[in-house]
Amino acid sequence: MTEPLIPALLQPLLDRGFQQRSLAVWMVPVALILLFGVRGLAGFIAQVALAKLTTQGLLVLRTAMFERLQRAQLSLFSQQSSSALANTIVYEVQTGSTLLVSALMTLTRDSVTLMALLTYLMILNWKLTLIVAALFPAVAVVMRTLSKRLYRLTKSSQAATDKLAYVVEENVLAHRDVRVQGAQRAQADRFFSLADGLRRLSMKSTAAGSAMTPLTQMLAAVALSSVISVALLQSADQTTSVGGFVAFVTAMLMLVAPLKHLSELANPITRGLVAIERGLDLLETIPVESGGSFGPVRANGHIRFNDVSVRFHEDGLPALAYLNLTIQPGETVALVGPSGAGKTTLVNLLPRFVELTTGALEIDGKDVRQWDIESLRRQFALVSQHVVMLSGSIADNVALGQGMDRTRVLDCLAAANLAGFIAALPAGVDTEVGHNAMQLSGGQRQRLAIARALYKNAPILILDEATSALDAESERAVQDALERLMQHRTTLVIAHRLSTVQHANRIVVLDAGLIVETGTHTELMQQDGHYARLFRAGSHEQKGPANHV
Ligand code: ADP
Ligand code: MG
Repeated sequence: MTEPLIPALLQPLLDRGFQQRSLAVWMVPVALILLFGVRGLAGFIAQVALAKLTTQGLLVLRTAMFERLQRAQLSLFSQQSSSALANTIVYEVQTGSTLLVSALMTLTRDSVTLMALLTYLMILNWKLTLIVAALFPAVAVVMRTLSKRLYRLTKSSQAATDKLAYVVEENVLAHRDVRVQGAQRAQADRFFSLADGLRRLSMKSTAAGSAMTPLTQMLAAVALSSVISVALLQSADQTTSVGGFVAFVTAMLMLVAPLKHLSELANPITRGLVAIERGLDLLETIPVESGGSFGPVRANGHIRFNDVSVRFHEDGLPALAYLNLTIQPGETVALVGPSGAGKTTLVNLLPRFVELTTGALEIDGKDVRQWDIESLRRQFALVSQHVVMLSGSIADNVALGQGMDRTRVLDCLAAANLAGFIAALPAGVDTEVGHNAMQLSGGQRQRLAIARALYKNAPILILDEATSALDAESERAVQDALERLMQHRTTLVIAHRLSTVQHANRIVVLDAGLIVETGTHTELMQQDGHYARLFRAGSHEQKGPANHV
């Protein structure tokens, strides 16, 4: 565009006969513009290419970390808080890669300048250059010492940031409890002291990072003065010319800028490395769940506990001790007992949410550790006291992980006694439940979980206090749905209210990790032991509110 324009503008000049000179007059700006254009374009391409590389790398790293999160042994989640994990995967790797890439750019540019200047100095006067070269080990020592300090400080800052994020996490989760207990002041103080600790660490890091530049500059000054002294000595015996000396000192002064830039890199490089290291730690040091290769599509649902013990702490009491229990396909077994008896631990052994300490647990005659972990978990539907919904619509939550079949979703919702509720919603099954379905009542959430379990249609069903959060009215509605769910499945049901387990094929009474009684409701009532006592205490509690209805 500009190229034909310029000659046109210059036409009057040409007409006047300034042909020779005018050629130069328009050639120079055009060349300049071209030069800047090329330079700009190259810079742009380099920036974009680098960004593409970095973002692509970040994406790969993040995805790998998230996959690791999903396959990690469950102990990870008791070691690290969700905010710490979110920090690692979402923020740290981003910060780390950004810092490292920009540091790398400075590093290449300035080290090239540095090398070029040093070569030039060598050519000018190699003896004097040797004095300058002595500067580098000294700078390296300073850098190493300060980097070590920076590394420690950055590690501490990370830990402090995690603690700070954890306070936020807790206060968000427990916002009601904090308010009702009037604990805001105490929580704010806790937050302040952690935030202040972080501020102090950050000041220390800045101090350590900023000490680098003056220190290297001091070293440079020492080198410069040595050069000048030596040069003066040399000039006494006429080996150095004044011109050569000036050129040397000028080039040497030019060394200061790249040296300064390089010394300023210690902070971002350390910070970046620590951040990336944290991400890589997650990938390398967190063990993944391992299983075997046994993987039938659908289990029959035969379960056998053989002398199973579970001990959470080496020196503590066992949560389950030498437990023997065989469950036939299609059987409904109720687990009852006081809280802390080990009921949840027992059912958590099945999908390997808890690992047994000694003994063996077989499903379909195969040790659970020989099962492929995904196939194993395909065999279970789980409804527990804590119903967790993910963001998405009601339909998404019912079909979670199973592939969407809308007709079946509707059938399952109907079977879970939710048809009326869904019909009343403006968007029906497409209503977004949002984070954890807070707008639903306990009973609705519970029934949604039952619909999910129905949809999964797994051969083994685990109900862990599935109805304990409900009032009598909603419990009856859920009970219907549960009975439909339990048909033709091996079922383990834990219930606080014993009226709900009366119809089980077998009732197993646990106490302090031991099976103390087994039998049907009638048998156990006749025995007049633990169960009879629990039942009488429970039925009193049950009948209380029911009489008022
Ligand atoms: P229940 O479900 O019968 O109320 P649990 O199976 O939840 O009882 O707990 C049995 C025992 O094991 C309790 O003493 C409990 O403190 C302990 N326990 C359960 N889970 C863990 C865990 N993850 N870490 C340590 N101890 C645990
Ligand atoms: Mg429990």
